[in-house]
Amino acid sequence: MAILPDLSRLKPDGGKRSSKREQIVNVFLRQEGHLSADDLVDLIRREDQRISRATVYRTLQWMVDAGVARKVDFGEGRFRFEHSYRQPRHFHLICKTCHRSFEFLSSDIEGLVEEVAAARSFTPSQSVVQIYGTCEECRTGKAPSTTAEGHSDLVFARDALRIAIATERSGLEFYSRAARIARDARGRKVFHDLAMEEQEHLGKLEARYAELLRRDPQLESRPTFLFFKGAANGLFAEGAERLLKGVNDQQALMIGIRCERGSHRFFKKYGERFEDSEGKQIFLEFADEEREHLDLLVREYRALVKRQGRPRRGSRVAAAPSARASAR
Ligand SMILES: [Zn+2]
Ligand SMILES: [Zn+2]
Repeated sequence: MAILPDLSRLKPDGGKRSSKREQIVNVFLRQEGHLSADDLVDLIRREDQRISRATVYRTLQWMVDAGVARKVDFGEGRFRFEHSYRQPRHFHLICKTCHRSFEFLSSDIEGLVEEVAAARSFTPSQSVVQIYGTCEECRTGKAPSTTAEGHSDLVFARDALRIAIATERSGLEFYSRAARIARDARGRKVFHDLAMEEQEHLGKLEARYAELLRRDPQLESRPTFLFFKGAANGLFAEGAERLLKGVNDQQALMIGIRCERGSHRFFKKYGERFEDSEGKQIFLEFADEEREHLDLLVREYRALVKRQGRPRRGSRVAAAPSARASAR
């Protein structure tokens, strides 16, 4: 189910040797999860007895160098190999009883690692997070579910879409509420239009989600891969709360600007961290949409200030930010 790399791009020079290499690469890419070099040798030998152990080892190293495979060390005294092509770097939960490993990604952890490294003026090149323990099946005696093993780009895309959809829903709630309370006719129309736009985007995201489910009917039951402590929908929920406290139109616009700016930054920052994948695309596209909303709100804020005049002294509404600076 993983998207396979374009092998023609990876094809090395040379005739016969490259076809052996291709054969090994193909067998590797058909597997899910984490293989040791010996696991791969066994699989290859089932297909072709003539390929030597040394060739498999050399090809594995070549795949690591070419960005097709990643080396992982689960503390077993040998390396394992997993796909890296279009698969985001991730962390592992490792069961000491059944020796299976389960993957997850947390940009909160990655952010914290970067923060610690920066505070110590350390340039990190790689960080590894491994949680050892007992998996649910081993603990409860339930039959192991095959859906828990490995992960695919689809699970990552599913989780990225879930986060984008939750954000879009809370954005819709925010703008619907703002449209109800706005007194300035044009301000009301801006909020109303944004609510309609959020509604439309939400429909598109939901259609994309349904499309993912068609590609893998078991997708919804697979374990969560992508973990976020503070997702961007919290921003809009907080904004909607503040609207309830009674704000004027300029303040409502300013709250919207803060929400969209925070949301744009959130999706852009995390999207840029991910390695090339559908999940990355979803985040970056969503960041662009939030950016458009932000620019629109900034323009409207300026127009409203022109019509109504600057907020009175002592008001907590800050001066309109420039569209350029607001997106950084
Ligand atoms: Zn286990
Ligand atoms: Zn892994």
